[in-house]
Amino acid sequence: MSVTEISLGNLRVAQMLPDADLTPVSGDSPVQLRPVRSETTVILLPHAFECAECERYGMELDALAAEFREWDARLLVIAAAPDGWLQRLSFAKAAIQEREAASEAAVLVADRYGQVFHTSRSGKEHAFPFPPEIVEWLKYLGTLCPE
Ligand SMILES: [Zn+2]
Repeated sequence: MSVTEISLGNLRVAQMLPDADLTPVSGDSPVQLRPVRSETTVILLPHAFECAECERYGMELDALAAEFREWDARLLVIAAAPDGWLQRLSFAKAAIQEREAASEAAVLVADRYGQVFHTSRSGKEHAFPFPPEIVEWLKYLGTLCPE
């Protein structure tokens, strides 16, 4: 499936993340959407236009790298254009995907198999989940099926 066929923002709880490769902003090897190392995945889809509020939220999540690592989680920021702030992410991987200009910002959380556990659409108010709440979900998903 090509990346352009994916509409990540429309995925619902219990659906699987599409099996697709994304091109990272860093120019490194492609990022696979489906987890390959049984990691929980948090995806931020910022607004397609440059948005200071999405940037602030993205940097806030990026600062939680230690918690993400502790619970075997990764953070992907999938944007419509390589805005400057994507280059400043230290932990999160940033990738570009064709998105409609009007598409809403969203946060998705998928379990270690790639099944969607949570979705939030931002709306006008940037109603993203509170970052500590995301960490609670990571703990839950990280301890759900002990190996
Ligand atoms: Zn925004």
